[in-house]
Amino acid sequence: MDAGPALTRYDRQLRLDGWEQSRLTTAKVLVAGVGALGCETAKNLALMGVGELLLVDNDNVELSNLSRQMLYVDEDIGKPKAELAQQRVSRMNPHVQVVGIQTDVRHLPVDVFSNFDVFVSCVDNWPTRRWINSMAVELGKPLVDIASDGYYGNVQSVLPRKTACIECHAEALIPTEVQAAECSLRRRKPENLVSELREKDIIVKVEEAAELFQHNIKTLYDIKYAPQKVVDGLRPELRSLVHRLRSLLNPKIPAVLSVAATVAGLGVFEVVRILHGGALGKALSGLLVYDGLNGRVSRVKLGRNPLCHVCGADSDNPTEIATDSEEKIVDLIDKISNKFMFPDVKLQKGTRLLNGDEVVKDAGLSDGDIVYVHTSRRASPMPLKVRVVENSG
Ligand SMILES: [Zn+2]
Repeated sequence: MDAGPALTRYDRQLRLDGWEQSRLTTAKVLVAGVGALGCETAKNLALMGVGELLLVDNDNVELSNLSRQMLYVDEDIGKPKAELAQQRVSRMNPHVQVVGIQTDVRHLPVDVFSNFDVFVSCVDNWPTRRWINSMAVELGKPLVDIASDGYYGNVQSVLPRKTACIECHAEALIPTEVQAAECSLRRRKPENLVSELREKDIIVKVEEAAELFQHNIKTLYDIKYAPQKVVDGLRPELRSLVHRLRSLLNPKIPAVLSVAATVAGLGVFEVVRILHGGALGKALSGLLVYDGLNGRVSRVKLGRNPLCHVCGADSDNPTEIATDSEEKIVDLIDKISNKFMFPDVKLQKGTRLLNGDEVVKDAGLSDGDIVYVHTSRRASPMPLKVRVVENSG
């Protein structure tokens, strides 16, 4: 690369006290999600001269994206965002190597993540945010998590095992409706769904809710976000019920570009500060909240949670779970699901998955044994130490 014109390009930022362009030029940053936040993030990182960018998204462009997502134009509707983002961002700065991959970020192999210096999460859902956070902590890579909701936006920098991770305060930060959907739904009844809807002045019959349950639509969250193929598979009356409920529950999060651009700008500067390794001040610890309506930015202190199952524990010091020798595995799984907010737990001991119908002692579990929890909310299975109390009764 011809260094002359490249450096002229960055002339104004090179004049900044403490700025070291080589910190950016040699950096590799992975951006998950190229919606409103991700477009802004990718654009900023590229224009400032971050050496390599990987842009990951599994969505296609829709008309309603065009008020916020400046990498796309009308002719792009229906086309894959990651590929378009790669083309457009590459054109903004030829000195930056940009790759776009059209996939769910959770499907990328771990080697891809290992190759990057910083991850930026710009995704719009908690399951994926939780997964990226666990990957970042596992690999010891800094993560900047950026989110927006209406007139509010927030940024959290995660320096693994140095600052709080996304999971440290999950119970306070994840909305209750999402928490309900993240827990075990095995004991949930159609009546629960009927009464939650009634609280929102929406009346549904128990029989209708029961039928939705058969299709794994068990929570308000499921009604809003059940995959299209599940909804398409419903009988026509039930499908129109879901459409009606969706329009009443209004699943689309309100969003406006100025707020997204502001928080993405704040988040990208966190990336720059992280890459400077302290030369531009310490990276943020805790949550930075932007309130667009009041024009206010505030910082919420978040200490690390020593009991956090992502960054507080590790394989030498696993989280413990109590059980008794007569407890059924399926009930132990429920307990784990509810404690950690994992909706899809499978338990592994040694090389085999435990059978839900067995009781703890017949499954060969003894006090102090390590089991591994498989869930789509984590990049790798979580080790858990079981504390087995003898059941004398
Ligand atoms: Zn944590």
